[in-house]
Amino acid sequence: MCNQLTVTQKPRIAILSLHSCPLGNLGAKDTGGMSVYIREAATELAKLGFEIDIFTRKHGPHDSDIIQLAPGARLMHIKAGPEQEIVNKLSLYPHAEKFAVSVDEFRCRENQKYEMVFSHYWLSGIAGLRLSRLWGVRHMVMFHTLAAVKNRLGVGDAEPELRLKGEKHVIRQSDRIIAATAAEKQNLVDLYSAGENTVCVIPCGVNTSLFKPAATLDCSQADSNIKQILYVGRIEPLKGLAVLLDSLALLETCHEWRCIIAGGGDSSSAELARLKKKACRLGIGNKLVFPGLIPQEKLVSYYNQADVFVMPSYYESFGLVALEALASGCPVVATDVGELKHIIQQGVTGHVIPEPREHLLAEKIGYWINRSRLTPQERMFISAAV
Ligand code: UDP
Repeated sequence: MCNQLTVTQKPRIAILSLHSCPLGNLGAKDTGGMSVYIREAATELAKLGFEIDIFTRKHGPHDSDIIQLAPGARLMHIKAGPEQEIVNKLSLYPHAEKFAVSVDEFRCRENQKYEMVFSHYWLSGIAGLRLSRLWGVRHMVMFHTLAAVKNRLGVGDAEPELRLKGEKHVIRQSDRIIAATAAEKQNLVDLYSAGENTVCVIPCGVNTSLFKPAATLDCSQADSNIKQILYVGRIEPLKGLAVLLDSLALLETCHEWRCIIAGGGDSSSAELARLKKKACRLGIGNKLVFPGLIPQEKLVSYYNQADVFVMPSYYESFGLVALEALASGCPVVATDVGELKHIIQQGVTGHVIPEPREHLLAEKIGYWINRSRLTPQERMFISAAV
């Protein structure tokens, strides 16, 4: 029996991110907004006086067991499933319980006491429920995306029954569910019979110390006649990139333009190849740039230099990249997903279109490409309007 006495007076929270490492390569197949959310939330909660321990799976022998993320926030790599960078998320399901056991062994070794478990995505939720029962503490969960919503859209591969059942189980058993938007709360209530009072809506934030407009116009940008359209994110069918390419082929403009599609990497090579082939078929292959994964510190200058940011998604639980673009002073053309219709001011800071349709996208992208380049003051205004 291990001693449950705590060594610190600060309340300690265990955050679980089983399948995706919060320190992973952002924009890769399974690493995106959730990782950013966990990292930022952990840092901010630690500033508020909590001790935060994030647990994720060990991806390889190079992973340190314990990493100090920020004062009061640590990340622990725990063995669960194959020690490799890329794994099929579903294949981690049989390891969720063992992951929970290993997290508890870690707790015993450190003689810690956790006040709450906060799980991210349904796989972590399975492990989180086990831990919350073992420790006699509350379980809070955030799903980030929901299988039932994805399947209803019918874009990309269908989500399996195992995930749907897993989500239902976690929803039924959890004390609190965090949704990033009122629409996601409604999905939880309508499609999963979640209790109205169990789901709490907390919108995502953006790191405005990082994502902000440049004080002056970049000279290379000011001198260039080439207008820039920017997409940032994971490369997968739900992101609507195929429709984006169709819309670019319809673009009516006398300006030269290029479209930068950032994100992807090795884990998304098949989808990237499909998109490149399609672009060539549409005759716009030479206008696209695929820079791969861009670290966030460098991403800000992409947002600063773009004339318009596009988010043609079929589904977003929030739409973090659009918020980063706006905070950096870049207008956004987005579909009506996540929280965007409440964040974008129509015709002022961008446009929200009802669904991913090529002619609608082409019209609104054209609007921002055909107008004169935004001044630093206009970019400041967009940023301040978020
Ligand atoms: N991102 C990045 N580099 C890239 C692509 C994406 O840093 O090359 C980051 C981006 O800044 C954002 C996150 O990955 O914070 C994607 O979040 P979002 O919620 O928009 O998409 P999700 O991954 O949740 O579908």
